[in-house]
Amino acid sequence: MRILFNICLFTLLFTNVNAQQIACVDAVNAVSNDTLLSFMRILTGLDSVAISGQKQVIESRFKNNPGNVQTEDYLIQTCISYGYQIENIPFSDIGRNIIAYKPGAINPKKAFIISGHFDAVPRTRGADDNASGTAAVLEAARVLKDISFPYTIIFAFWDEEEVGLVGSRKFAPDGPLGYWDVQLMMNLDMIAWDGNNDSLAMIHTKPIGNSIAYADSLASICKQYQIPLNPFIRNPGESATDQEAFWEKGATAIGLTEDYDFDFSPHWHLPSDSIQNCHLPYFYRMARLAIAGICEFTLRTRSVSVAEFQASKPRATVWPNPSKKELHIDHDHQFQLNEWRIYNLQGVLVDSGKDASTIAVNQLLSGMYLIEIDWANSELTRLKWVKE
Ligand SMILES: [Zn+2]
Repeated sequence: MRILFNICLFTLLFTNVNAQQIACVDAVNAVSNDTLLSFMRILTGLDSVAISGQKQVIESRFKNNPGNVQTEDYLIQTCISYGYQIENIPFSDIGRNIIAYKPGAINPKKAFIISGHFDAVPRTRGADDNASGTAAVLEAARVLKDISFPYTIIFAFWDEEEVGLVGSRKFAPDGPLGYWDVQLMMNLDMIAWDGNNDSLAMIHTKPIGNSIAYADSLASICKQYQIPLNPFIRNPGESATDQEAFWEKGATAIGLTEDYDFDFSPHWHLPSDSIQNCHLPYFYRMARLAIAGICEFTLRTRSVSVAEFQASKPRATVWPNPSKKELHIDHDHQFQLNEWRIYNLQGVLVDSGKDASTIAVNQLLSGMYLIEIDWANSELTRLKWVKE
């Protein structure tokens, strides 16, 4: 876990990602408490909203209710107004996930998802569960709309979570949109209750795919952005919400929620689950953390390896990996190799050379390294390599 974070820091040293980082900082600064609250008020029926040109009030968001369909239409029109493309996929007569996305500029097949379920149980306005997560995903869509991401960013709103993760299970990697190579799904479900005022932010993970590394990284981002929350990583994370649908398929996923273990909302699934009973300052901070996370993840990955972006055929590979005594860099000979360099995780250059056919590495300490290949046209490729 620590290693992944170091690599992220490390790659930041080299790559021209300052502009990207600033983009995420700006986006998080643009998160508006007023906007978050107004999404919440509309989703819980406190405020009317024009949907398809008609003033409407969203009542119950439970499946089969008019409010469920109104919510879908409201999510669609809001995300369209931000410039996103929409996949509006019915998975049954009454079930519909709303998927808003922007194709990645470099590799649109790879996708990062921020999500929450918009349905609620009957006889409740479902403010905490889960207008809170839905509002945060909408706010993410609003503040991230002008950023050009290398990979596809998806804002997913699941239907019928409350009747057994139906929507997310229909979507999860082998679902109708299985053509997206999902790198990470980050789910928000109940992010507005902090009864004991300890600011605990529960990050749910499981040892599946890269889920643990992403959970750890989200906790680091919380510190980096100085968001006053106390991240707590729960492993194994909660199965009774939508990230489970992805874990079931072996996909990388994390969940961000309020404290499910020692400070569970007493209003859960009750008519009293109203905005009045939410902790709004806590909710705003949770929304900021989620948005910082999805922005950083979707941009940062770009700096891991230029070779990755050449989806079909990387111009160079390192083998064996891991290795003990020597390594080889194979490369496409239409690209002229200028120099190779090996950096340790502290960013120190430990070796370099021009002949990449056989590189002796027995003198290096065990651990992770970054290999930078400097091409004659001044482009760089960066590859991870592990010394045994
Ligand atoms: Zn929920």
